[in-house]
Amino acid sequence: MTTPYPKMLEPLNLGFTTLKNRVLMGSMHTGLEEAKQGFDKLAEFYAQRAKGGVGLIVTGGISPNVRGRLAPFACQLSYPWQVAKHKKVTDAVHREGGKICMQILHAGRYGYHPLSVAPSAIKAPITPFKPKAMSERQIRTTIRHYARAAKLAKKAGYDGVEIMGSEGYLINQFICRRTNQRDDDWGGSFENRSRFPREIVRAVRAAVGEDFIIVYRLSMLDLVEDGNTLDEVVALGKGVEQDGATIINTGIGWHEARVPTIVTSVPRGAFRWITARLKQELKVPVVATNRINTPEVAEDILGREEADMVSMARPFLADAEFVNKAAAGKADRINTCIACNQACLDHVFENKRATCLVNPLAAYETELVMTPATTKKKVAVVGAGPAGLSFSCFAAERGHEVHLFDRADNIGGQFNFAKQVPGKEEFHETIRYFKNRLADAGVHVHLASEQTVASLQQGGFDSVVIATGVVPRKLDIEGADLPHVYGYLDVLRDHKPVGKKVAVIGAGGIGFDVSEYLTTEQSPTLNSDHWHKVWGIDQGYEHRGALAQPIAEPSPREVVLMQRKETKVGAGLGKTSGWVHRNTLRHKGVKMLNSVNYERIVPEGIEITRNGKRELVAADHIIVCAGQLPLRELEQPLRDAGIDVHRIGGADVAAELDAKRAIRQGAELAATI
Ligand code: FAD
Ligand code: NAP
Ligand code: SF4
Repeated sequence: MTTPYPKMLEPLNLGFTTLKNRVLMGSMHTGLEEAKQGFDKLAEFYAQRAKGGVGLIVTGGISPNVRGRLAPFACQLSYPWQVAKHKKVTDAVHREGGKICMQILHAGRYGYHPLSVAPSAIKAPITPFKPKAMSERQIRTTIRHYARAAKLAKKAGYDGVEIMGSEGYLINQFICRRTNQRDDDWGGSFENRSRFPREIVRAVRAAVGEDFIIVYRLSMLDLVEDGNTLDEVVALGKGVEQDGATIINTGIGWHEARVPTIVTSVPRGAFRWITARLKQELKVPVVATNRINTPEVAEDILGREEADMVSMARPFLADAEFVNKAAAGKADRINTCIACNQACLDHVFENKRATCLVNPLAAYETELVMTPATTKKKVAVVGAGPAGLSFSCFAAERGHEVHLFDRADNIGGQFNFAKQVPGKEEFHETIRYFKNRLADAGVHVHLASEQTVASLQQGGFDSVVIATGVVPRKLDIEGADLPHVYGYLDVLRDHKPVGKKVAVIGAGGIGFDVSEYLTTEQSPTLNSDHWHKVWGIDQGYEHRGALAQPIAEPSPREVVLMQRKETKVGAGLGKTSGWVHRNTLRHKGVKMLNSVNYERIVPEGIEITRNGKRELVAADHIIVCAGQLPLRELEQPLRDAGIDVHRIGGADVAAELDAKRAIRQGAELAATI
């Protein structure tokens, strides 16, 4: 049999060791690093990814000293007594035939604590703490701390270390004029600014010897003002190569950059072009990264020799078996990361454990465990939205006889509307994944099959799971029944014609999505060059940080997006993605109004009061995106008939419902039923 992805699956010989393929699992902080018994859980988390076939794993960032921690109690490796817990991880990975590097990350001015240090005392826009400028002595000691961490990592059994030199952390802060205003040997000229990373690589190499992997994560595009030039990036890459780096990994954009780099609206493989340029200049293997989430994209990048390896991080939260499935010719069975950030990065920023919206078992491998069912049941699941899909697959895989019903003629529930929003094309993948998984798990799927209390009673089921979702909330004001008042389903499901002037009521996730839908003619996500222009990324790299003036993108409609709350419009959106949605709509000229009181709807638009003034928002159509109510009228009659009934997803609680909760709740019920 020919290998389906020959380039991706080709071994990589590093001289002293060989990686079994070209796939690197990128560094991700899970929160287990600091949790009680977290390293036992981490060991299983990484072991499953190693078993799943990944060529090289990189751990979440571990600080080389106290001041370098990201948060006050963040993980650090500085003392021999800290080695034992790391050994649990390396042993587990090696048992599965994998290789693993520990990332050394000094946060510098991104440290969320008062002990943070940086080359110069300049506060980052994303933390409240102003760092202290490092003394020369501190710089020297910090370099030794990197070397000490690497030596301890070797003792702990790691196959190598990754030196985190991108994303705006300490090393990046030294390299760029933006954050380095020193006038000693560590600042000023590029040679001086790059002294810190180069001495770190040399010190680490000296500490660990030759037969140890050193990955250097190089910031290829800073995407901030006063970032580096391409020449400087190339010079640094060549420098660290000489100093002893084995592999050069890519970093795209500082955390404070106002250009999206990983959210779902970033085109797949958007930044491959910069790795391709660097690869021409360097001898060591170069890794491409960001928004690579399918074996096809990985293979294409490697096949065109734009990189020697590909890094994927979140795709391994979504599916530990990514590589094995690809190798077995079952890429259509991969649970694709949809780049939503909702359960991974957003959790990290909220100090919660990272997991995955589409795979709630991620980082819960030892806690949310699916064992074979002891008593096999015949279960009806009403509703094939995310909650019903998740439950059905897990329950059938445990051995139950599962019948999944939906009145629609397709599975996916509301994901069928989400996938139409420009920039949310990835949502198609989740529906594709579940369709195949239902078939593999042997779920009996009944589409175009509206269920009633009578039909369910006649089915002879041991249990019924109500996963019927939600109904949109209707407005209760004068004029709400006028013909130019639409719900979001009229727009996204029924594609009713919408006029040039639109007022959107409700600025939650759906209000934002509908506004994006109505103001976009062609999704920039599907045209990478255009997307770069929209966000002002200079592929010619003529300016520092590769920033250019964003192009104007005319909107086909004038949209006013409103909410009653006094808070900033969009404040409730995801921490790591909300700003992208807000900027996109601002760019389209969408007017965002808070503190709105809806008075009445009239043929010319909607009358509102705001700041004590009554005004007319002129509109051809008013689109109501005012949240939802649970749909569960089947539940009580079934209970009354003595049937064992459970409810999940929107049918359970509609307020603050999202697919993350729906899918997790489905999995949790399936684990116990
Ligand atoms: P639903 O998805 O509503 O599924 C319920 C299913 O039950 C439907 O298919 C329905 O046809 C079926 N059904 C109902 N009654 C019956 C019956 N009597 N018989 C048979 N079948 C029945 N969430 C996120 O987390 N991230 C996002 O980015 C996101 N974007 C969104 C964008 C849009 C435009 C929309 C509309 C939603 C978005 N959501 C998002 C929300 C997410 O889709 C929902 O939270 C999720 O779909 C809820 O899952 P559910 O299974 O509970 O219900
Ligand atoms: P939502 O986030 O709860 O927003 C509902 C909006 O309606 C709010 O702006 C609310 O603001 C307004 N509202 C509530 N009751 C109202 C009433 N009686 N009259 C007028 N306005 C009212 O819900 P949603 O937008 O429907 O989204 C549903 C779920 O899908 C959300 O929980 C969200 O997490 C998920 N989703 C997520 C994304 C994403 O990108 N992550 C995208 C889409 C959807 P005021 O009360 O201030 O007016
Ligand atoms: Fe990908 Fe979303 Fe899962 Fe994070 S939560 S790994 S972005 S699918």
